This record gives sequence, structure tokens and C-alpha cells, in this order.
Amino acid sequence: LQDGLRSAFKTLRGQGRLTESNMREGLKMVENALLEADVSYSVVKDFMQNVTDKAIGQDVLKSLKPEQQLVGIVQQALIDILGGDSDPSLHLKPDVTVLMMCGLQGAGKTTTCGKLARLIGTEGKKTLLVAADLQRPAAVQQLHIVGESVNTPVYSEEGASDPIAVCQNAVKHARDNGIDVVILDTAGRLAIDEELMNQLKTIDLKVQPDQVYLVVDGMTGQDAVNSAKAFNDALELDGVMMTKLDGDARGGALLSVKHVTGVPIKFIGVSEHMDGLEPFHPDRMASRILGMGDILSMFELAQREFDQEQVQKTQERLQKGQFTLDDFRKQLNQIARPGLMQKMMGLMPGMGELGKMLQGGDHEKEMRRLGGMIDSMTADERANPKLIDNSRRQRIARGSGVSPQEVNELLKQFDSMATMMKGMASGGMSGAMDMMRK
Ligand code: GDP
Ligand code: MG
Repeated sequence: LQDGLRSAFKTLRGQGRLTESNMREGLKMVENALLEADVSYSVVKDFMQNVTDKAIGQDVLKSLKPEQQLVGIVQQALIDILGGDSDPSLHLKPDVTVLMMCGLQGAGKTTTCGKLARLIGTEGKKTLLVAADLQRPAAVQQLHIVGESVNTPVYSEEGASDPIAVCQNAVKHARDNGIDVVILDTAGRLAIDEELMNQLKTIDLKVQPDQVYLVVDGMTGQDAVNSAKAFNDALELDGVMMTKLDGDARGGALLSVKHVTGVPIKFIGVSEHMDGLEPFHPDRMASRILGMGDILSMFELAQREFDQEQVQKTQERLQKGQFTLDDFRKQLNQIARPGLMQKMMGLMPGMGELGKMLQGGDHEKEMRRLGGMIDSMTADERANPKLIDNSRRQRIARGSGVSPQEVNELLKQFDSMATMMKGMASGGMSGAMDMMRK
């Protein structure tokens, strides 16, 4: 999708102004890109209608480049569909709040239960996880392991066969024990079936959860739409959590699920680890779908994981328009942790290649390799990479035991990173977007 949209906008580049006909052409390409991304056809149709209505009759602003105007319109329409009014709150009550998680088998319910418990714990509230998936033999055990990893008690009943009774008993147990939030981990099936839906409906009726959330696997594309519709018809969902939006998952499913159910998307799962849950931001997702990288998420991640003081220093240098290979080297040290590098690279526009270089292989070795190249540069070269001509490149390559091409690759990646950083320092988000569009 990202490549598709990017190229769609590229064809608009260089045109003096946005005319009705060249915009139509661009919109047609946007439509194709969305379809390619597995957004369901009816959703795409509505979306294109929405965008066209907005765009036609709108004066072309002289201060904007044509593609900026179309990007703006498409982006706003994406935000509208995804839920401009999004609300990541779980609406916890002062006494016990019961959350029910449902979804197909393997969607990520149990994992998301743990992530939510962890999140709620950071707000100083007590959670009880409830093992209501009695379908799979190992499900109860799995929830106990998850609960342990997030320091959260798990309610389960030995040899139980009635999930409704387990849920009811658990809620009572929670009330008696000063628990704030009860999370019901229900059973899923491989596909929607009557028995599963009836069981869930009965729990809904008898236990009366305050919020019912659907957990959807973000990698399932078109299937996500069908199951979301079935669950919403049966249970009147309060929200959706979409998992597995790390990796190559397409944002397309999100668009469709939101459109089909109309319920807010609350959280997205971005890793299999317990800290891999993020509030859903429609604006960021729209940017991501448009291929601009999820810059805000990246900075949030950076802020959480980096040494704050270092971040501060780097930011000060950025404000002055300075971002050197020395800073880059320091960042490499900071992020020399498994997983984090790939995560950041995946989120950054134009960094796909470096991310790929780091993927799969020996992570630390790659870090050493990149760091080694920078270490083989003189202080002057690090402050001003433009100095690095052919002979210097040869020397750096020899010094760090790599090929001159690898040095080139590093410099190219550094360049796009520096450009983005400078754009961000001078003009915030929109500044960065502008720099990237050039
Ligand atoms: P359930 O059957 O719905 O309870 O699904 P599980 O919670 O057991 O998750 C199924 C698989 O998906 C497990 O291997 C999880 O580690 C994985 N998983 C869940 N959420 C995410 C996510 O956000 N990202 C990734 N990469 N994996 C996830
Ligand atoms: Mg489960």
C-alpha cells in the first residue's frame, strides 16, 4: 500500500496545480492501492466517494503544492474513517469494571489480556485475569504464564467445564477482594460458529461485562472484516483491538473493520511482548498508510527506551540544525538492543533498507559493523560526511573491514535520517513531512 500510494502521489509531482482531471487520476491510483492492501471493496468505494466529494469544488490553494493538497484531503478522509473521534480510554468505573475479550482463535486475546493488565497496573489499579477459555486444553495454563509475567493474579477453576460459571464466580471473587478490573479471556474458534457465538452471548447476558472488546488479527486482511461483522452483530462491541501490526501487517484491515463495525479502535498490538500495546491514533495510522512512516510513534518509542539526557542533548543539537554521524553513532549504542532497532527502522520512512540489513542476521554483529564504520572515520569526517570522497571511503572500508559500497550505504541512510531529523527540528511534524516529500 505504501509504495502504491507513494507512486500515486509521485505522478502528481511537478504539475503546476491540481486540476479535476489530474486529481481524478491520482484518486484512481489511491483506490487501486487501497484495494491492493486488502481493504474491502465496499469500504474503498465509500472512501473514494468521500474523498471525491471533499476535493471537487475545492479551490486549489496557491500556497500548497498540488500533491500536498491531495495528500491532505486523502489523509483527512482516512482519519475520518479510522475514527477522528477515537478514544483510547477503557472507561474504568470506580468499583469493579468487567472487560470481556473475544475473537477468533489465535487472534491474540490471551496476549492482549496480559498487555492490558500490565497497562492497568501502571495506573495503580488491580486486575484479575479470568481463564474462561475452556476449549483448548492448554489455554488456562497459558493465561497463568501470561499473568505471572505481568504480576497479575489469574482466576481459574480446576476441571471446570462451564465458562459462564467461571466468569460469574470470578467477578464475585473480584468484588470480595478489592480488584478494580476483571478481564475475561474467552474461547475462540478457528472460524465463527454458532456454538462459540452462543457461549459468548450467554456470558454477555449473564455476566454483563461493562465493555466487550473484539481482538482482531491485523494480518488477516479480508477475513478480519467478516469476523468483525459477525461478532459485532452478536455482541454489540464497545471497541476493537487489532494485534500484530508490527511486521508487514497492512493497515488495510483496520480501515475495513472500523468501517464495518463503527466501533472505536482502542489499542493496537505491536509485538508479542507484554509491553507491545499502544493506544490507537487515527492520524498516525493515516500517515502510516500514506507511506510517511509513523514518526510520532517512533519518537514515543525513542523517548521511552532511550536515555532521557541523551535525547535532550540530541534534540538541542537538532534545533541548531546539527545532526552528525557522532550523534548517529551514539544512537546506535542506545538502541543496540534486540528488536528495538528493527522496530524503529520499520517505522521510519526511507529506513527500510537499513532495517532489512539488520533483520534476521546477528543483530549485535550488525551493530558492531555499523559502529565500526563510523569509528573508522576521523572526527572531521563524522562532523561533515561530505568530506568523504572516494579515497577516504576506501580507507574507512579498509579500517572497518567492510566494502566501500557498505560505507556508501551507511552514508546514504544517514543522509535520509539527518534530512528527516532536521525537518523535524525546524518545522515539527509538518516540516519533516515536507522534507520527505521533496
Ligand atoms: P488467542 O488464541 O486469541 O488467545 O491468541 P494468543 O494470545 O494465544 O496469540 C496467538 C499468537 O499471536 C501468539 O503467538 C502471540 O505471541 C501472537 N501475538 C499476539 N499479539 C501479537 C502482536 O501484537 N504482535 C505479534 N507479533 N504477535 C502477537
Ligand atoms: Mg487464548
